[in-house]
Amino acid sequence: MGEIWIKEAERLGDGSIGGAMDTPGNPGRVVWHTTESGQGDSSFNAVGKYLITIGAEPHILYDPTTDRLAQYGPLNESARALKNDGTTRTNRTGKVCIQIEVLGRAGSPFTKTWKPGPNFKALMRAIRSWGVPDVFPMGALASQYGDPAAKRTRSTWLTKGGHYGHCNVPGNDHWDPGNIDKAALFAAAPVTSTPKPTPPKPSTPTKPVVSVAHLNAARRKDIPAPTGHTTYKTEVDVVEEALVAEGLLEKRYADGSWGTKTDDAYNAFRRRMGYKGDEAKGAVGLESLKKLAARRNFTAKA
Ligand SMILES: [Zn+2]
Repeated sequence: MGEIWIKEAERLGDGSIGGAMDTPGNPGRVVWHTTESGQGDSSFNAVGKYLITIGAEPHILYDPTTDRLAQYGPLNESARALKNDGTTRTNRTGKVCIQIEVLGRAGSPFTKTWKPGPNFKALMRAIRSWGVPDVFPMGALASQYGDPAAKRTRSTWLTKGGHYGHCNVPGNDHWDPGNIDKAALFAAAPVTSTPKPTPPKPSTPTKPVVSVAHLNAARRKDIPAPTGHTTYKTEVDVVEEALVAEGLLEKRYADGSWGTKTDDAYNAFRRRMGYKGDEAKGAVGLESLKKLAARRNFTAKA
């Protein structure tokens, strides 16, 4: 469901100008007209009343020189600005058939002198809310009365959604809205996509880096030193945590000091990795450390 009443628009009349659409399953469309009148507020007020008097209300009255916008009836019901095409009730074709009377004359296309503003954007927003595409399915508009360039093809009218001039409606003979700049209508109300908030980048936790040289320095200094002596504590902490996770070191010995418990645990890890004899003891090697690093999410370097 699209917008039925445009909140920016003034109301004209009693809001009751038509009824249900005949072919609500067909695509929505818009028909542009010109009032063949002057512009500005006095014309707006006079024409606004006159269209009620003669029972030819459109949905919308718009002044392209002042951006004034008024609405007579709900957009999802019919209006009264078109003649029938034989038995086809053109006012009731499609999901919506939004009739727009623009103050001005077909002979001087309003897009040459108009000043579309926020109300024009509101109108286009409401039109697009019904899924009406920014196209003119019939192609050219009329440059004069009876202009053969302006087609009134029945099959197109019945089946294609989009924008039409009154000059494009079958069964009608008016040539309004004149040769307006079709692209300018859409350009005056660019579709603004709501900017998507940039999702925060998933923070890749930086892996701790452990140097084999630092570990061996810690090993040389901490083992002979009094219990709890630390050297490169941060890196030893990482390796001890990994050995705890491997189930090879009791948590209480993970204290950042490379003591004999840590040394035993590291040797056990090497045996687990298939090292034997001398290869499974002594100074820490880069190759075995890389294996532990790969399993426990840190980076080993020389
Ligand atoms: Zn018309």
